[in-house]
Amino acid sequence: MSLAFHGARFCWMNGEVVETEKALVSAMEPIYLGIFEGIKAYTAKDILKKGSLNIFQWKPHVDRLWRSAAVNGLNIPYSKDQLLEGTKAALRANGFDTNTYIQPRVWPRADAEDKVHVVIPTWKFDTLLGKGNPKFASVRRFMVSSWRRVSSDALPPQAKSWANYQNSSLAIKEAKRCGYDGAIFLDSRGLVSEGTGACLMTVRNGKVITPPVSASILESVTRNTFIEFIPEDLKIPVEVRDITRVELYASDEAFLCGTGGEVTPITSVDDIKMGEEYPGHVTKKLADYYSELLAGNVKKRAGWMYPV
Ligand code: PMP
Repeated sequence: MSLAFHGARFCWMNGEVVETEKALVSAMEPIYLGIFEGIKAYTAKDILKKGSLNIFQWKPHVDRLWRSAAVNGLNIPYSKDQLLEGTKAALRANGFDTNTYIQPRVWPRADAEDKVHVVIPTWKFDTLLGKGNPKFASVRRFMVSSWRRVSSDALPPQAKSWANYQNSSLAIKEAKRCGYDGAIFLDSRGLVSEGTGACLMTVRNGKVITPPVSASILESVTRNTFIEFIPEDLKIPVEVRDITRVELYASDEAFLCGTGGEVTPITSVDDIKMGEEYPGHVTKKLADYYSELLAGNVKKRAGWMYPV
């Protein structure tokens, strides 16, 4: 088996671009104590075509990486700019000209626990977005998980650590076992939290509603981005507040938002359909706008793009 990860010949590791095949560490490394980020670079102009790349919202992602490191007592021995330059160098070395996922990873070294390994793999992904993309409207049946979201007094969901994804994995496996496509978590209070790898937004009476950070969610870059542009650019009100399970059932529309999930419409939760129309018109409107924004076509949001 080739170790060229998802077709990526190169990654950035501990200060330099290296061949993925040579980015090797010992099996004894405590990678499970690590933290990471998930960032995307999109093709400029039309996100379904090839072209030059822009990294989207680099700064809030790298700031969160630093916060996750601080919470977990890890010290990253590079500057944020060095990581940006390293990421760009890896993308250029791979010659990528299609949408690319970037996953900086940091974990304590087995041979010196006060030091860390920093690796930045990158790989191509298929977007759900873009005009005429048939994947966007796929049917997605969700359930409310019997597993609660990890709570911030036990394992802080605001830090993006690998450990938190054991919680997600339990919920995903349960959902698949029960014949669903995905799961929504409640928090320890029994109020709606988020998805297993993305935040939740609902639409009710023309308003977009999303749970607060205190509902045990990851403080999502995409969610913050949406909270900013939906009211400002699309003139649709956004409310950040707790949502009960039954209110979720009563939504006109529901979708997940995140770097990986982009805008993922949800057809039903616990077999209760979200509204009359699927995907809903607010979900469609904001997904179309978001894909224009990601392609660098929204001038006022150019500051969110980091050309490679
Ligand atoms: N919640 C969880 C549990 C996630 O894994 C992610 C993906 N990072 C998100 C929310 C969305 O966060 P972001 O928009 O920063 O990707």
